[in-house]
Amino acid sequence: MRVAIAGAGLAGLACAKYLVDAGHQPIVLERRDVLGGLVAAWKDEDGDWYETGLHVFFGAYPNMIQLFKELGIEDRLQWKEHTLIFNQPEKPGTYSRFDVPDIPAPFNVITSIIRNNDMLTWTQKFKFAVGLLPAIVRGQQYVENMDQYDLLAWLEQQGIDERVNSDIFIAASKALTFINPEDVSASIPLTAINRFLRERYGSKVAFLDGSPTERLCQPMVDYITARGGEVRLNAPLKQIMTDDEGKVTGYLIRGLNGAKDEVLTADAYVSAMPVDPLKPMLPKVWQEKDFFQEMCKLEGVEVINLHLWFDRKITEIDHLLFSRSPLLSVYADMSNTCKEYADPNKSMLELVLAPAKDWISKSDEEIITATMAELKKLFPQHFDGDNRAKLLKSKVVKTPRSVYRALAGTQSVKPTQKTPIENFYLAGSFTKQEYLGSMEGAVLSGKLAAEAIAQNYPASKVSRETAAVAR
Ligand SMILES: Cc1cc2nc3c(=O)[nH]c(=O)nc-3n(C[C@H](O)[C@H](O)[C@H](O)COP(=O)(O)OP(=O)(O)OC[C@H]3O[C@@H](n4cnc5c(N)ncnc54)[C@H](O)[C@@H]3O)c2cc1C
Repeated sequence: MRVAIAGAGLAGLACAKYLVDAGHQPIVLERRDVLGGLVAAWKDEDGDWYETGLHVFFGAYPNMIQLFKELGIEDRLQWKEHTLIFNQPEKPGTYSRFDVPDIPAPFNVITSIIRNNDMLTWTQKFKFAVGLLPAIVRGQQYVENMDQYDLLAWLEQQGIDERVNSDIFIAASKALTFINPEDVSASIPLTAINRFLRERYGSKVAFLDGSPTERLCQPMVDYITARGGEVRLNAPLKQIMTDDEGKVTGYLIRGLNGAKDEVLTADAYVSAMPVDPLKPMLPKVWQEKDFFQEMCKLEGVEVINLHLWFDRKITEIDHLLFSRSPLLSVYADMSNTCKEYADPNKSMLELVLAPAKDWISKSDEEIITATMAELKKLFPQHFDGDNRAKLLKSKVVKTPRSVYRALAGTQSVKPTQKTPIENFYLAGSFTKQEYLGSMEGAVLSGKLAAEAIAQNYPASKVSRETAAVAR
């Protein structure tokens, strides 16, 4: 059976991968000339990589890790020491660590919290633990119910004080969703904490050994095409064509550079586009349906990814770092963390600027100047005095609409992969799945969409029908 999929991000590619596994023929249409969507990366004129986002993988990403195994590229995940590392703005140039010992969950994470005395007092640790008890005891259902509150309101209800909020939850909220605790749905950090408390290696971090486009997306494309599927770049979906009842009759692909538009027909259709470009494309007959009206409440959030190349090593740390800066979220020295970006003498800091609402329209120069001012606070030893680190070059990648804005109440409006339209499915990290707006969420959504299609159109049934038509 032919399945047309719009979008070659991780969700669209994962959907195609699992469809070929089920004996179907996917055709993936990507608007841009690069694979990967939010994980897309490019080489600059010097041959240095820059990316849409600084990406890390967690031990609690079962579907992603399974995918790496199925593609035979498991060795490309570079697992780091099991720890979370935070800058200490009040003690510039120093770090606070949550080192997770290699003992069963949840005792490993609890031990890491008990041992850390820089960021939490004993009273705060106690209140924090008591506040988390309902999530631990009542599990995912409780976590999902907490979607009605923003994180700040939930923390207040639990009697967790302001310091824990400022120290840990701002960092977690910005890292997971690019927004602050007063906006984020409480269920988001609770979901992450719950997984970290349940899985021994859940909070362990890995970096890919090179660019996601080449080292993860390309092997997915090779796998799909070797089994009869197709992936087309520069093939933007222009219109979802339907009959009067709303059933999809074709995907209209915009012709580029003077070429004519083309109609692609298939047995089933998937949108693996982000929610923002999908909304204006919804056919009129679908717009009245609750399913799509609810989905339209979702929108992507602004984020900025920065790359700074320096003439020397700024840090030797081979890990993800939580900046705890008002401007920045997480960052890493990619010259330490990533094999293909390695440099023994110079640093390439990749940093996420979030929340980015007030910065997205500013010039690259303004953004770099503000970031350098923050770095001076984090690393005064390199940016004060006579022998200052020199910024060799920089690159700013702005994404005005990235993952969905995870506000309180948004979990319930996330659409399922199966839609009310018989031959139309959704994939994407904004769709309903038990992970966040993450790479794991994207891969799982693609897999769930492929499963829903395979259930509706079992390969054996399709081949019998195709054979009958051929006769
Ligand atoms: C700065 C940043 C840092 C991040 N860090 C992490 C992290 O550390 N860990 C983690 O797990 N996740 C992280 N994420 C989130 C993760 O990247 C996303 O959740 C995931 O990649 C989304 O995949 P997707 O396939 O659902 O959507 P997308 O990647 O958005 O893919 C959608 C695709 O659809 C295409 N498209 C759009 N319109 C059309 C059209 N008309 N026709 C055809 N194609 C179209 C787009 O070009 C794109 O390729 C980060 C994201 C960003 C931006």
